Amino acid sequence: MKKRIITIALAVVFAAFGVSTSFADNIADYKQELKQNQQQIGQVQQQLDKTTNQKATAKEEVEKLDKELNKVNTEYERLTKELADTNAQLEAATKELEEAKAKREVQYETLKERIKVMYEEGDIGYLEVLLNANDFSDYLNRMEYINRIMDYDNNLLADFQALEQLINDKVVEIDKCKQQLETLASEQAAKKSELDGKVAEKLDLISKLSKDEASYNQQLSDLEEDNAQIEALIQKAEKEAAAAKAAAQAASANAAAASYSSSNKIYSYGGGRFLWPVPAYVGSINDVYGYRSSPISGKGEFHSGLDMKAPYGTDIVAADNGTVIYAAPRNGYGNCVIIDHGGGFSTLYGHNSSLCVTAGQSVVRGQVIAKAGATGYATGPHCHFEVRIDGKYVNPNPYL
Ligand SMILES: [Zn+2]
Repeated sequence: MKKRIITIALAVVFAAFGVSTSFADNIADYKQELKQNQQQIGQVQQQLDKTTNQKATAKEEVEKLDKELNKVNTEYERLTKELADTNAQLEAATKELEEAKAKREVQYETLKERIKVMYEEGDIGYLEVLLNANDFSDYLNRMEYINRIMDYDNNLLADFQALEQLINDKVVEIDKCKQQLETLASEQAAKKSELDGKVAEKLDLISKLSKDEASYNQQLSDLEEDNAQIEALIQKAEKEAAAAKAAAQAASANAAAASYSSSNKIYSYGGGRFLWPVPAYVGSINDVYGYRSSPISGKGEFHSGLDMKAPYGTDIVAADNGTVIYAAPRNGYGNCVIIDHGGGFSTLYGHNSSLCVTAGQSVVRGQVIAKAGATGYATGPHCHFEVRIDGKYVNPNPYL
């Protein structure tokens, strides 16, 4: 950008001083810059495409991770709920166990009490019951009765112990289950946290890639804007170059004509449709157009042009811009030049000592086309000048 501002500034300076700096160089520079810009656009576009692809891939990965995370979350919730249920069961079983223990304890105390009564205070208690039997049969009955009570207590204690063992087993089982569930839940929690980390990482990447994309897009838009500016500059420079070329051509034509008018003291004729073809002797005529007696044969003849004063070697110039259609010896005309000016007009220059142009060549008004001489039918050096319309000679006077 900076570089171009300097270029423009220089162009303005050159323009201001009227320096006809080479437009072609400027145009070449602009075109080079344009080419570089386009290469850069290609590179940035590639980077943008790559970034966009990476972003798409990252988005796909995030979607996959999200699905996985959903599964893990569901499983984690299920395990957490199951664990809560298991905890409730464990609490209930533990309470049951406490109750069973308490019952067994009570039963144990009851049994111990009876045994104590029987053996320590037995003399009064069970022994008395036995001794107070009415007869042996009664004694056996009483003995049986005591044994039954003892058995009953004993059985009850065994039952309570079995129940306690059962509930204890259940508590151990539930606790084991709880521990397994806790392990699973903690595994899922770890997985969940790992996935959360991965998702966060990918989201960071996507955010970074989005920023890169925006930056590349900005670069592209800047470069394209740059290109449009350069293209406009190229168009402007090309237009200016064409204008300068046209101006230079016009100036060179004018300079050719002006150089004769300034160096020619006799010059008093501004030129009409055509420039006087002998700038050094403008207005000096040896012979006029029309019927005359021939200077060579002395017989009457028609003179088809003006004989202009032109000493040997004098410059003969083109009367106007045009194309040389003839430049060679031609019968009585001697070394002759004919120029086609378009619009049906042509001019002829005869008797030249030498020719400076060739057929097919473009000439500008005032350009030297020949050197004066006396070739062909001529009594001395001069310029025989003809004006022709559609090939037929006319009086040149009204056109000079
Ligand atoms: Zn003549």
